[in-house]
Amino acid sequence: MDKQLETLRQRVREFAQAEIAPLADRIDRSDTVPPEVWKKIGGQKLMGITIPKKYGGEELSYLAHVIVTEELSRASGTVGFSYAAHSNICLDNLYRHGAEAQRKKYLPALIAGDYLGALAMSEPEAGSDVVGSMSCHAEKKGNVWVANGTKRWITNGPDAGVLIVYMRTADKQQAGSRSITAFLVEPGMKGFSTGEKIDKLGMRGAGNCELYFKDCEIPEANVLGEVNEGVSVLMAGLNSERLLLCGGPLGIMQAAMDVVLPYAHQREQFGQPIGNFQMVQAMLADMYTRLQAARALVYSVGERFSNSDRSIGKDVAAACLFSSQASVKVALDAIQIMGGRGYRNDEIPGRLLRDAKIYEIGGGTNEIRRIVIARDLLKESAPAKPSPVK
Ligand SMILES: Cc1cc2nc3c(=O)[nH]c(=O)nc-3n(C[C@H](O)[C@H](O)[C@H](O)COP(=O)(O)OP(=O)(O)OC[C@H]3O[C@@H](n4cnc5c(N)ncnc54)[C@H](O)[C@@H]3O)c2cc1C
Repeated sequence: MDKQLETLRQRVREFAQAEIAPLADRIDRSDTVPPEVWKKIGGQKLMGITIPKKYGGEELSYLAHVIVTEELSRASGTVGFSYAAHSNICLDNLYRHGAEAQRKKYLPALIAGDYLGALAMSEPEAGSDVVGSMSCHAEKKGNVWVANGTKRWITNGPDAGVLIVYMRTADKQQAGSRSITAFLVEPGMKGFSTGEKIDKLGMRGAGNCELYFKDCEIPEANVLGEVNEGVSVLMAGLNSERLLLCGGPLGIMQAAMDVVLPYAHQREQFGQPIGNFQMVQAMLADMYTRLQAARALVYSVGERFSNSDRSIGKDVAAACLFSSQASVKVALDAIQIMGGRGYRNDEIPGRLLRDAKIYEIGGGTNEIRRIVIARDLLKESAPAKPSPVK
């Protein structure tokens, strides 16, 4: 790890442990993140990590962004999760595909943490098959697009000041994948509303809700990228989004280590610390090994991506698959090491387990990740077709 990244990690760790970790339990119990948290993260210049300085960003690498997500997630899984949706899935996408006027309009407030950003693809009937099953649609009428339909699950949806929203804008049968457009939607737009916050198992405090479009009028100037080229916008952001989401499980695993190591020294049974027992030692060793293996994989993929290697589809899927599974297992081991205390709702490991589970589902499930990995492997290893007989 180069010195600049280590310095960044140290700075974010000190900030997150002082300002966010003390709030983690309250965030989970009250299902709310105090809004000033986002201003504080903005004040630390952590929102626009990958955005050029010209727009108020830090112009750092995607690997740096993973490390920031990891340290925020170590302090609070929820804050790390909402942060990734805001700073990468919305902000970085908006920067990469936005016209100059759109960048100028939205980037300063997103980077300052004045409001949150969100991205909406999923719908009640469009999950893993989001492109094929998308039914939200928009039709051009005069100089506005009139949008109808419902999006579901959208992280930061209730609190977002701007949302990237995908809509079907051409006939799927005729236009195929060139039938979707990305739009920038704002809360005040006529015909747009958000539903109740969804009551979730984990990542409590991260706002997730449905979005309703009832003849919602989206100005023509709010098309993100090109009309009917939304799938390219979506695909271009997919690898960086998946990569960023790997920071979450790493932070959760580190948080589990932070809790169990002191406990293994303090808790005594049979007249000695439980850390003296080899079966407890084995769990500690397995937890650490999973964390370090996941870190090595995520960082190596992050480094390749930061160095403009875009051929990482199966490796970023592998990093998500491995780190998400590892974090669920590490959180379970943390519960086991703490015995009855690990099973209490007012102890940390239960929250870590509930938070870790989302990473096996959100941003594409582990089953879909396996499909992506196997598809790429089989494609790359397919025997060459015999040349036609002359
Ligand atoms: C907390 C949370 C936050 C989210 N945030 C956002 C957000 O900000 N923006 C957004 O657009 N979406 C968001 N999502 C949606 C998320 O991306 C989807 O939940 C995810 O893609 C899976 O879709 P689904 O839930 O509809 O499951 P489904 O697609 O219905 O899958 C159900 C099960 O079937 C399996 N399955 C599906 N197809 C196949 C197949 N071909 N082969 C094998 N197994 C298969 C799945 O792996 C899964 O186990 C969020 C979801 C959650 C829970």
